[in-house]
Amino acid sequence: MTQTSSKIVTARQEILERIVAAARGAGRAPEAITLIAVSKQQSDDRIAAMVATGQLVFGENRVQEAQAHWQDRKNQMPDLKLHLIGPLQTNKALDAVKLFDVIETLDRPKLAAALAKAMDKAGRQIDCFVQVNTGEEPQKAGLSPQEVDGFVADLRQTYDIEPKGLMCIPPVGEEPAMHFALLRKIAQRNGITNLSMGMSHDFETAIAFGATHVRVGTALFGPRG
Ligand SMILES: *Cc1c(COP(=O)(O)O)cnc(C)c1O
Repeated sequence: MTQTSSKIVTARQEILERIVAAARGAGRAPEAITLIAVSKQQSDDRIAAMVATGQLVFGENRVQEAQAHWQDRKNQMPDLKLHLIGPLQTNKALDAVKLFDVIETLDRPKLAAALAKAMDKAGRQIDCFVQVNTGEEPQKAGLSPQEVDGFVADLRQTYDIEPKGLMCIPPVGEEPAMHFALLRKIAQRNGITNLSMGMSHDFETAIAFGATHVRVGTALFGPRG
């Protein structure tokens, strides 16, 4: 085994163990939590090493970069699942629907319309999560908390999209727990089951607050770039 692969095997093992411990600590079943390995800006070597560990679920934040790393791999390994965790432009909706299995960043009616149309055209239904800007940061994508209920109703009625989950990225430097709690509360009142929350530095807290999907990049792969 190369040094890169043994590092990645160890890192993944460690994160999986921490997920199990956090789940048990919260009285939850570890199987209820999916680890999304965030491979954005990682080298193809590291990605290959991670795939070789048996990791099947990955996250990318750009459509083009994801196509380069994942199109061939997904054709060869149909079990691989890819989540889009970065902003999506409507003109890339069709490409995204063809490649990704989950879009976690649905946050506006125009994008809902584009995704509904793209799914029709591609003959492929994929899961959508609604992104919530829990910290109401102006530079960040996502709906503000008070907009979510109306948007979810609109998704169901107008676009025939049943949102499978909610996603958030808490503000840097703030205690993430209150954001995770808020996301869970919004999901509960809207009858939405999945919560994508928690990254390298706070996934254990997210699990304590009900995360079903944690998005871990640097703690698995090492620094990006
Ligand atoms: C990059 C990114 C992650 C992973 O962040 P790490 O700190 O490397 O774990 C998770 N979620 C989103 C939306 C990201 O853009």
